[in-house]
Amino acid sequence: MTETTLHFHPRAVYAPTPGRLERLGLLLRRHRPLIAAVQWGVVLFYGLLVVVPAFLPLPPEGAHLWDNLRLFAQFVFWGLWWPGVMLTTIALGRVWCGLFCPEGFLSELASRHGRGKTAPGWLKWSGWPFVAFVITTVYGQLTSVYEYAEAALLILGGSTLAAIVIGLLYGRDKRVWCHYLCPASGVFAVLAKLAPLHYKVDRAAWDRTSATAEPFNCPPLVDVRRMTSASDCHACARCAGQRKAVQLSGRTPFAEILNPATPARSTDALTLIFGVLGVATMAFQWTVSPWFLQLKMTLATWLVEHNYYALLADNAPWWLLTHYPEVNDVFTWLDGAVALTYILGGGLLLGAALLTGPLLAAFFARKFAHTPTPDWQRFALILTPLGAASVLLGLTMTTATQLRGEHLLLPWIPAARATLLAAGCLAALWLALALTKKCTTALPARIGVFLALCLPVTLMATLWALAFFVW
Ligand code: SF4
Repeated sequence: MTETTLHFHPRAVYAPTPGRLERLGLLLRRHRPLIAAVQWGVVLFYGLLVVVPAFLPLPPEGAHLWDNLRLFAQFVFWGLWWPGVMLTTIALGRVWCGLFCPEGFLSELASRHGRGKTAPGWLKWSGWPFVAFVITTVYGQLTSVYEYAEAALLILGGSTLAAIVIGLLYGRDKRVWCHYLCPASGVFAVLAKLAPLHYKVDRAAWDRTSATAEPFNCPPLVDVRRMTSASDCHACARCAGQRKAVQLSGRTPFAEILNPATPARSTDALTLIFGVLGVATMAFQWTVSPWFLQLKMTLATWLVEHNYYALLADNAPWWLLTHYPEVNDVFTWLDGAVALTYILGGGLLLGAALLTGPLLAAFFARKFAHTPTPDWQRFALILTPLGAASVLLGLTMTTATQLRGEHLLLPWIPAARATLLAAGCLAALWLALALTKKCTTALPARIGVFLALCLPVTLMATLWALAFFVW
C-alpha cells in the first residue's frame, strides 16, 4: 500500500478491520499540524475551565449548571471530562495522552525550547506516578476538589505548572513529566492494558528494515522496537508505519494480560491493587461510609470528654482542608485527620487484603509445577477489568450527584451500576480461570489458584455493593 493511496474515511473508525486501522494510524502520523491545532484548542478550553471559575464567587442559592460558570465547569470537568478520559483509555488506549492532554502537550512544547538536560536518576524512580497519584487523590478529597474551583486550580494548575517546569529542564521534544511523574500515568498504564486498539510492533520486520529509515520522535520515551504493551504508549501515531513494522491494530481486550510475552510489571500490579482499587476506592466511598462516620463520632466524643478542643476547631485554610463558611462547608482538623486516615490507611489496608489473592495464587501455582507458572504480578493483573469498572463507578458518583442536584431523576442508575460491577467481576473471574488453566500443577493446587483469585474479586464486589445498595 503506497502512501498516495491512503484516504481517510470516517467509517475507518467504526469498522476496525486491520487494514483500515493501519491506515488510520498512518493518517494520524501525517496530520501532526491538525493534531497540534486540536491540542491548542484543548489547552484553551482546559484553561478556561480550570482558571476562570476559581475567580468567580461561589454559586448563589438556586444556581444551575447551565447558568453558572462555576457549576458548569465543575460538571463538565468532573462529571463528564474525567470519566470520559478513563473510558477512552479503556476503549482506545492512551489516545487522551497522545492526542489531547494539555499537560503533556505543554510539557513537550516546553522541552522543545528548554534546557534539554538529561533526567537525573532520582526522577526516574518507577514509584513516582503511584506516590503522586496517592498524594493528589488524598489532597483532592481533603480540599473537596470536585466541588470547589479554587482547589481544582491549585491541584490541576499546580500539576500543569510542574509539567511545564520539568519540560523546560529535561529532555528535548520529550515528555519526561508524563513518563516519570504524571499522577495519572500509572492508572492510565494499567487501564490501557484492556484497550482493544494498540500500536503493534513486528520486531523481525523492524530489524530487517534499514536503520536509515525516516527518523521519528517518541515523546514518552518508549523503546518502540521492543514495545509489547500499550501501557507506556501514548498512541500519538508518530511511529505508525515506521520501518514497515509498526501499525495500529486490533486485539482482544484480555490479550495483553494473558500473553506471557507482554510484561507484568510490579509497578503496574501495585498501582492497580493499592492505587486504583485501594486508595481510590476509599476516596470514592468515604463520604457515604458509616464506618467513617462512626470513627469520627467516637473520636469526637473522646476529645470532648477529655477537654481536647483544638482538633475540633475549623480554622484550617481552604488550601489545606475544605473551608467555605459561606455555604456551611467547613472541615475541622478532626474531619481532616479522620478522612486522611480512612482514605490512606483504609486504602493501604484494602490493598494489602487484595494482594493476598495474587500472592496465594502464585504460591499454589508454583506447588508441584513442572514448567514456569504465572507470577503474582500476572495474577494481580486479572483485577484490571475490575479496576476499570471501579474507577468508572467511583467517578460517575460525582456525575450522578451533580445531575441529582439539578433534580434530574435517574431511576436507571442502580441497574447500570450493578451491571458495570457485575461485568468487571465476571471479566476478572474469566481472566482468573484462563490463567488457572495455564498452570501445570496438580488439580487441587489449580483449584487453590482459582479460589485465591476469587478472594479479591469478592472483596471488591462486597465493598461496592455496600456503598451502592446497603449504606
Ligand atoms: S510508541 Fe511512542 S511514538 Fe509510537 S505511538 Fe506510542 S507514544 Fe507515539
